[in-house]
Amino acid sequence: MENVIIIGTGCAGWTAAIYSARANLKPLVLAGDMIGGQLTTTTEVENYPGFPEGVMGPELMMKMQKQAERFGTRIDYVAATHVEKRADDTFLVEAGEKSFEARSIIIATGASPRHLGLPNEKDLIGRGLTSCATCDGAFYPDVPVAVIGGGDSACEEAGFLTKFASKVYLIHRRDELRASKIMADRTLANEKIEPVWNSVVKEYLTDDKGEMEKIRLEDTVTGEESLLDVKCVFVAIGHIPNTQFLGDLISLDENGYIIQEKGTQTSLEGVFSAGDVADHVYRQAVTAAGSGCAAALDSERYLTEKFE
Ligand code: NAP
Repeated sequence: MENVIIIGTGCAGWTAAIYSARANLKPLVLAGDMIGGQLTTTTEVENYPGFPEGVMGPELMMKMQKQAERFGTRIDYVAATHVEKRADDTFLVEAGEKSFEARSIIIATGASPRHLGLPNEKDLIGRGLTSCATCDGAFYPDVPVAVIGGGDSACEEAGFLTKFASKVYLIHRRDELRASKIMADRTLANEKIEPVWNSVVKEYLTDDKGEMEKIRLEDTVTGEESLLDVKCVFVAIGHIPNTQFLGDLISLDENGYIIQEKGTQTSLEGVFSAGDVADHVYRQAVTAAGSGCAAALDSERYLTEKFE
């Protein structure tokens, strides 16, 4: 029987593991399909405190993993597929053919940025296609860029990008923003942001180095196609929290994010959550790490009160 099983290996999962391991709980981490989480898909991370020269995303995640292992974290390279609470208040976690038992669970499975589903987008991630202006905006100074989406995230990203880019095209499939009025007004008043209404991206076109060069747009009203020169495309059409495997174990909001009821505790005693799987607002590496620490402290307290 494990004291705590941590599901997920992004900043939240590894930080929870570091704290749980240092509390001598010998945590078991289920690594999931994408070890290291979203940061492994970025290049340089310039906003993680403690790295004045920046650090590559994959390197940062390797360091977190090493730090967790140094204090006795064990890792099983499987993805959790089912979690249930048993009559004696312990948990059964299934991961394909394997199953595990634990007294507490920390869910840190993150969220995946939604993409358009165009054929070459996987190859373009980090080469002019991203979902994080805060992470990558500074790499595109004085060049035109595009943001896809019409919600608060798209507006926020577009506003942030005006600090660097020569021009920000905001490409939206309708002629009205979904974003809150204050955000929409601020966005449309910004001279560096040019809305491209009723438009969808049909194709990402690359230069001979495989970097983003142009996008092919289709007007949703007239069907006309056009090309737009952009060096980077920021996709902001929402995120999908990775909570599908939980079924109805705990309360989720209407978008599938975990609802935290007391600190990092979910609607079910003994189940805690950390990072983007419960946060659609901040979504930063450092906030995920912070909540991973909080979840480890909350689960440690729970274990002491319940089982000692
Ligand atoms: P969102 O509100 O769901 O907006 C997604 C946008 O992407 C919509 O404009 C949608 O178009 C568009 N879209 C979705 N699928 C698309 C597709 N396949 N092709 C083209 N466009 C597509 O998501 P969000 O902006 O990430 O916001 C999520 C939540 O976080 C919201 O509740 C938001 O208020 C909140 N948030 C708040 C703040 C803040 O207050 N500072 C900042 C960021 C996010 P349609 O409009 O046509 O559906």
